[in-house]
Amino acid sequence: MGDPRTEKSEGPGGGASAPTITPVLVAELLPEGQRMPVYVHVIDHPMGRVLVDTGLTQLHPAVEDMDPQLTPLSEQPDFDLAGIDVVVNTHLHFDHCGGNHLFAGKPVYVQRVELDDARSEDDYTIREWVDAPGVQYVPVDGTLELLPGVRLVATPGHIRGSQVVVVETGGRPVVIAGDSAVFFDELDDPRTEGQRLIRALEPREVWLAHQHEPWRPSSGPGA
Ligand SMILES: [Zn+2]
Repeated sequence: MGDPRTEKSEGPGGGASAPTITPVLVAELLPEGQRMPVYVHVIDHPMGRVLVDTGLTQLHPAVEDMDPQLTPLSEQPDFDLAGIDVVVNTHLHFDHCGGNHLFAGKPVYVQRVELDDARSEDDYTIREWVDAPGVQYVPVDGTLELLPGVRLVATPGHIRGSQVVVVETGGRPVVIAGDSAVFFDELDDPRTEGQRLIRALEPREVWLAHQHEPWRPSSGPGA
């Protein structure tokens, strides 16, 4: 079952105390005939362990046409659920919040406008996964310093309530971007306000929820 990634992403200036980012594969979806991985990301910071997005843990009739193949966090023997201190949702689409229930009682940071949309708009997400028992949201308005060198930044585009996590690792930052871009060409040639904000940060790497490897500026034409 599963193949949890253990690859570490360390900055050139990163010493023992610099945060590290680890992608964890939690599912594959098959939308429109194209297999798409679903990753969550763990930030190991000296002051705590942050989980960015939670994937999904079960099937649901509303999304069975995507033929989800699941390796949920709760079934990965190497993943320490209790070791997570803080959860961040880049947004609340079903493939990003479906594991929130695993972290009942822990603070879950999401943009306020996204929480409002997920609770009020029809066919937006799987609402019972958003407000699963015990899930406690901390609504964020714009930018928030979550831990020293780890901040949340609103990046409207994919949907209006998207946010990314910017991690200072020594040198240029690393960004965990959820679906602010789904494909690399959206960062090579940014189209949305959110994508332009990400590029303006001059990141070293940008981890996307649906790509196996991080985007890097050198991977784009003209970079
Ligand atoms: Zn997604």
